[in-house]
Amino acid sequence: MIIAVDGPAASGKGTIARALAAHYDLPYLDTGLLYRAVGTNVVRGGGDPADPDAALAGCAFDDLLLRDAALRSEQAGAAASIVSAHPAVRAALIERQRDFAARPGGAILDGRDIGTVIAPHADAKLFVRASPTVRAQRRHAEMLTMGQSVSVDTLLAEIRDRDRRDCTRDAAPLVQAPDADLLDTSFLSIDAAVQRAIALVDARTAVRT
Ligand code: C5P
Repeated sequence: MIIAVDGPAASGKGTIARALAAHYDLPYLDTGLLYRAVGTNVVRGGGDPADPDAALAGCAFDDLLLRDAALRSEQAGAAASIVSAHPAVRAALIERQRDFAARPGGAILDGRDIGTVIAPHADAKLFVRASPTVRAQRRHAEMLTMGQSVSVDTLLAEIRDRDRRDCTRDAAPLVQAPDADLLDTSFLSIDAAVQRAIALVDARTAVRT
């Protein structure tokens, strides 16, 4: 079974995807991490993430970078969202993601274009969203636990910026696949969101079997 989970930053898609992976015992790939690695690789090398050649060169990152905690930062997220708009960068990362999706026992991937580009044939697709304000508040709380204090307003501005870039780019923009189930987590606890996600996946896979 392949499960595609897409949605904007801090919508809860990562938490839901990890919980689904545990529930269905499937391997999980956080595809945002790949773009974060490319962006960080470019910035650390002194390059400009907006430059298509520098961004493409950044795709040759060492896999050890995927374990670097710095990839979780807002800066890495912003650099990821800039490099991810280059079609050549998306093309360079596509095979790795499709190979993962094609694992014999199935897989779960989360990102922005899993249900539309990477695994359009997925058995179940979720499009996870939450209001920008709720997402900024969640990100704020998460950063406090990491000892970082950034105002909710600053985070809200960054989230709006990232949404604009991710939704308006020409290459694989963030968009709900026509056959994806919408899951709005704005007013749901983590537990409730996960239960709802499981119910949606069960309903989709029951229809197909
Ligand atoms: O999901 P995450 O916030 O870690 O993703 C970081 C950035 O990487 C996103 O803002 C988006 O621009 C890009 N991304 C993408 N396609 C994916 C996953 C992430 O364009 N499948």
